[in-house]
Formats: sequence, structure tokens, C-alpha cells
Amino acid sequence: MRVVVIGGGPAGTFAAIAARKQDADAAVTLLTRERCEPYEKPPLSKAVLLGRVSPEDAPIAGPGGVAGHGVVLETSADCTGIDRTGHVVVLADGRSLPYEALVIATGSTPREIPQLPVGAPRTYYLRTEADARVLKAALAGCRDLLVVGGGLIGLEVASSGAMLGVKVTVLEVAPRILARVCDEQIGGAVHEAHARHGVDIRVGTTLLTATAQRDGRIAAVTGAGERFVADIVVVGTGSKPDDALAASAGLATDDGIVVDAQCRTSDRAILAAGDCVRFPGPQGLVRLENWLHAQDQGAIAGRNAAGANERYTTVPSFWSEQYDLYIQGVGWPAPGSARVHRPLGGGRVLIFDVIDGRLAYAMGINAQRDLAMARRLIERRVAVDATALADPGQPLAAMLKPQL
Ligand SMILES: Cc1cc2nc3c(=O)[nH]c(=O)nc-3n(C[C@H](O)[C@H](O)[C@H](O)COP(=O)(O)OP(=O)(O)OC[C@H]3O[C@@H](n4cnc5c(N)ncnc54)[C@H](O)[C@@H]3O)c2cc1C
Repeated sequence: MRVVVIGGGPAGTFAAIAARKQDADAAVTLLTRERCEPYEKPPLSKAVLLGRVSPEDAPIAGPGGVAGHGVVLETSADCTGIDRTGHVVVLADGRSLPYEALVIATGSTPREIPQLPVGAPRTYYLRTEADARVLKAALAGCRDLLVVGGGLIGLEVASSGAMLGVKVTVLEVAPRILARVCDEQIGGAVHEAHARHGVDIRVGTTLLTATAQRDGRIAAVTGAGERFVADIVVVGTGSKPDDALAASAGLATDDGIVVDAQCRTSDRAILAAGDCVRFPGPQGLVRLENWLHAQDQGAIAGRNAAGANERYTTVPSFWSEQYDLYIQGVGWPAPGSARVHRPLGGGRVLIFDVIDGRLAYAMGINAQRDLAMARRLIERRVAVDATALADPGQPLAAMLKPQL
């Protein structure tokens, strides 16, 4: 069995390792256009910018690397085409690699804004370890940082900048930060933390123009006519799925590669996983952009590529770290659910969404243990009582007990 995996993020890395585990005789090759062993992306906007770790300190495949799992890793391997009739992947250097099963895990790329395209002076987008290295170097000589976008990555960069002593301004077009991922209470607590650290967050603010001044600094003008001058600008305006390779091979795409529950694309020999896919969720096809999803779906795609036939069902979970806040969400937000607040005190926050007597979603700040319990309540579809959820005196573990 010959399995080829395209993409050296968590989805591709876990797919390659899982394919080898599923079929120890399989010849598995992992292709990535990056120049290095696959690494974790979450530290890039946090510990890497703060100088606490280097990207190579966190290899996804562990200390022995991908090779330690019996997978052949090809770095600087840019895949430019898939010949589905000939079952061959075409590389930019002209080589062709045959496959019996192919996994596409090409991830996502930052959404570019026309005012500050990739490559504009003193403008930084953050996706790869190479991006993080140049941004870290730029922050070292920076006094004023402008961040465009009050989503997770923009705010993580803002918190890293503030912790490095840089004066930070954030422009967010929506009426509040984190509007796509958090409710108002949690978004509000994060906003306050930034304000405490001196970050100036301007919500409901569009970026009209950004131009380099004579001294090289960037002058940004907002839709309301306000002007901000910064040494550097970081753009964090979301990501888009990298589905171009799949689309050019004629696979079904719809803002992401469309896959079924077994991670199969419209071609049965080709599977896909991670940020680049749109897959069946509880309310139709969805796309997720988080580490755990990429890891878990990648592993299922890899096993299925090597002969298994498993379904990917997930309780999604994301996290973000800003200052001393650990922000985390678990589950599927469900329309029409009732919101329950569990007062924890000490600046910690925990909210639940309950629908039809079951927990659908939970989110919190510095509430990791409770959220681990909430995850189990969601996974096991345990019947919950909203009054008990709202009472911090009633341990969540006890709600699991009858089901143990
Ligand atoms: C700065 C940053 C911070 C983050 N922080 C968090 C966090 O705190 N918590 C969380 O849950 N998630 C976080 N994420 C999101 C998480 O890292 C992603 O969801 C995850 O990496 C997606 O994995 P993936 O394997 O699908 O794609 P990716 O990690 O994007 O990997 C795709 C790989 O495919 C390669 N590739 C693409 N096209 C080709 C081609 N044609 N040929 C060869 N190789 C190709 C790319 O170079 C890349 O190496 C963060 C992401 C970033 C960028």
C-alpha cells in the first residue's frame, strides 16, 4: 500500500503516522512545502514571540520526528498538481509521486486585505514558523504596533506585544472583539484584560488606508478619519481554506474541500482533513480551524487511507492564551439553546449552553478542569439540570457519575 499525504501541519502529520499504524507494511510519504520538520503552530503567536520557545522545540511528531514513526518526510516539497487518472502527485521540481491513497491536508492561509497586501512594507501576516521569526525580530525594535483584526490571532499577537512593552492599538471592524468565537461576557473580560495591559482596542472601526511615511513608519487612517502611526502592522483578519490544489484536480470544493464523515472527497482514493475541509457537522457541512480538530480528523483520514472505515465525529474544542487568561470553548453552539452562567469568582468565567436538557456548548476563562468535565458531559450526552449547572457548589463530576 502506498499512501501519500500532502501538508505538514497537524492534520497531515497525524494522518501519515496513523496510516503507518493502521498498516505497518504501508509506504507512507509526507510532503510539505515548508523547509522543516512539522511543528506546532499555536505557540507562534504566544511563547515564540515572547522568546520563551523556538518553533523547533515543539515537533508535532515528538522528539524522533516524523521519521521515528516510519514515515518518509519530504520537506520543501511543493505539490503543484494531482493526476487523478494516473494516481500521481506532481511536485514543483518536476517529480511525480505515485499513490494508491492520497490525503490532502493543505490547511488554511491568512485572509489578505487590499489596504495591506502580503509583502507591503512593515506588514506582517502570521501563519508559519518563518513568519513568526521575522515578526519576532521586528517586534524587538518596535515601539508602536498596530494590529488589524480583533480575532484570536490578532489578540494573541497584541498580548505578546504588550507583554514585550510595545504600545499596541487594535482595530476591529465588528462592534466587539472575538465576535465570531465568544459571547459578550467572555469577549468583555478579554477586552478588559487588554485594557489593563495598556492595549487600545478600537471596535466598530474600519481601516481605510495604510501608507508608508517618509520615515518608513506606517500611517493608518480609519473610516472615521482617525490616524494611527505604527512601526509595524500585523494583519489578523482570519483565514481561508487552502483548497486550490484540490479544486484544480476537479475535487468538489465549497469554501473548503468537501468530505464525507469518513473524510473521503468526491474521489474515493483521495481523503482530506484539517483546516482545508468542509465536513458533516450536526447542522450541515462545517469548517473548523483549530488544532484538536486537525489532529483528530487527520488521524481518521490516515487510518481510512490505509484501509479502515471510521467516521469522524467530534466535540470541537479550541483554546487561546492571552496574558494570564486561558480561554477555551468546547462543543457545538446550538441555536435556541438556553444560556447558564456558573459564577466561579476570581476573574474566572464559565458559561453553558443547554438545549433539550443536554449540554451543547461550554466556554470559559481559566476554567480548564470544569471544561474538561463539560466535554465529557457533552460527549456522553448526559442529561443536565440547569439549576445545578449554575451552582458552583455542585461539582460537574457528580453529574457524570450516574453514567460512569
Ligand atoms: C499563529 C497561530 C496560532 C494558533 N493558535 C491556536 C491555538 O491556540 N489553539 C488552537 O486550537 N488552534 C490554534 N491555531 C490553529 C491551528 O494551528 C490550525 O487549526 C492547525 O494548524 C490546522 O492544521 P492543518 O494541518 O489543517 O493545517 P496547517 O497547520 O495550516 O498545515 C498545512 C500545511 O500544508 C502545507 N501545504 C499547503 N499546500 C501545500 C502544497 N501544495 N504542497 C505541499 N505542502 C503544502 C503548508 O505549508 C502547511 O505546512 C493557530 C494557528 C496559527 C497560525
